[in-house]
Amino acid sequence: MVLRLYNTLSRRVEPFEPLAPPRVTLYTCGPTVWSYAHVGNFRTFLFSDLLRRYLEYRGYDVFTVMNLTDVDDRIIKAAGEAGTSVREFTDRFAEAFFEDRDYLRIKPADLYPRATAHIEHMIALVEQLLDRGLAYRGEDGSVYFSVGAFNGYGRLSRLDTRELKPGARVSSDEYSKEDARDFALWKTASTLDETVGAAWDAPFGRGRPGWHLECSAMALAEIRGRFGIETLDIHAGGVDLVFPHHENEIAQSEGATGRPFVRCWMHGEFLLIGGTKMSKRFGNTLTVRDLREEGVDPASFRMLVFSTHYRQQLNLTDEALEAATEGAQRLAELRERLGRAAAGASPDGVPREVEQLERAFAEAMNDDLSAPNALAAVFTFVRVANRRLDEGAWSAGEAAAVIETFDRIMEVLEVVPRAEVEDDLTAWVAERIKARQRARKAGDYAAADAIRDEVAACGIDLKDTPEGTRWTKRAG
Ligand code: AMP
Ligand code: ZN
Repeated sequence: MVLRLYNTLSRRVEPFEPLAPPRVTLYTCGPTVWSYAHVGNFRTFLFSDLLRRYLEYRGYDVFTVMNLTDVDDRIIKAAGEAGTSVREFTDRFAEAFFEDRDYLRIKPADLYPRATAHIEHMIALVEQLLDRGLAYRGEDGSVYFSVGAFNGYGRLSRLDTRELKPGARVSSDEYSKEDARDFALWKTASTLDETVGAAWDAPFGRGRPGWHLECSAMALAEIRGRFGIETLDIHAGGVDLVFPHHENEIAQSEGATGRPFVRCWMHGEFLLIGGTKMSKRFGNTLTVRDLREEGVDPASFRMLVFSTHYRQQLNLTDEALEAATEGAQRLAELRERLGRAAAGASPDGVPREVEQLERAFAEAMNDDLSAPNALAAVFTFVRVANRRLDEGAWSAGEAAAVIETFDRIMEVLEVVPRAEVEDDLTAWVAERIKARQRARKAGDYAAADAIRDEVAACGIDLKDTPEGTRWTKRAG
């Protein structure tokens, strides 16, 4: 079955064909570390996590890069207000980002390049563009990309070039541009830049990189150095990045290399709250820290996010989060039941139902990563599997085979709540249950009963079921 993905460049769902299989290079625009990333940002990062995990499930060798934007207008302003350097200011948010990523069970990327660690590559890229006549030095000392000189500008965003306006992140006080569409590659250093440590020497003048330049330079540097290529298989980000950010990335990268920059552009839709895009600007953000404080299980949040297709807007509501939590709980319960039914046996014989699950899952995911359909297939399976377990229809070996497939699929979605770390009590009870089983096997029923009494005295009740001994803690 072919994997088909929607490519923003062609506006079509197309068969996915990496440049050099089994390798897939995936670059996702990461956070601007000027504040805690909100759960809207994390919706986009979860989309790229899902994409990466599904590619891996399909056997691809995925090389993932996510940049950290640690120098830009917003950061410089904030660092200036805080009276710290850009480095000091961004360090704590970069660290917080990694913590939040781990909490949400997002697989770490292979690399997290920080813009400030790649200044030399950015300078080299600007020089190349100057050499090729695609950039010029403005009267203010900044270097601009000359949009008019680049053939094919607007291909990604398909905006009528006459309507192209400077993007939201291009400051409007750039008098020195020759054309309103031109954007800054390198901004001449201001006093504030110097104060917060955001200025570097370059042959074309002291200054700092523009935001668009950062991604082009880092993406190219990482894949060139490792694989000798200048074309990414997939570049991902939120829809708000199509224009101008990604359009400009194409112009800078292709302008410099003369090669296609990206084979497949993928964009995730927004997370909304009360019908409005979650954004710091609107003051309606919620962070992963907030979720944690409210006791939201990461599996529930992932479930919520994957219940809507990545190309559709998702409205965050309490009801939706509750439904997702219940769904995740049902998966945990089934997984636990399967574990008891398998009782440590080796896989032996694959039940038909599990083959159906795997087929339906792959079919859904191959259709432009339809996680909602994949989840529907999973929940259909949950109903069937619970019935089979009620009937005692699966042998321990079959249950073990079911687990194998179930876990492989959950490795992609990662929506099963993790059991609490086994605490001392759990470990002790498990050990006592085993001791009791040994006693019973040896025919020493008095010893077995003594163990039952021993744990009962600690408030633990044992119950023997066809799937093994279960235990509950008495209330109070
Ligand atoms: P930023 O930290 O502002 O550079 O954004 C990081 C990523 O989050 C980008 O890919 C944005 O497109 C994405 N993003 C920002 N707001 C939202 C939102 N409300 N929903 C989904 N993605 C978002
Ligand atoms: Zn970017």
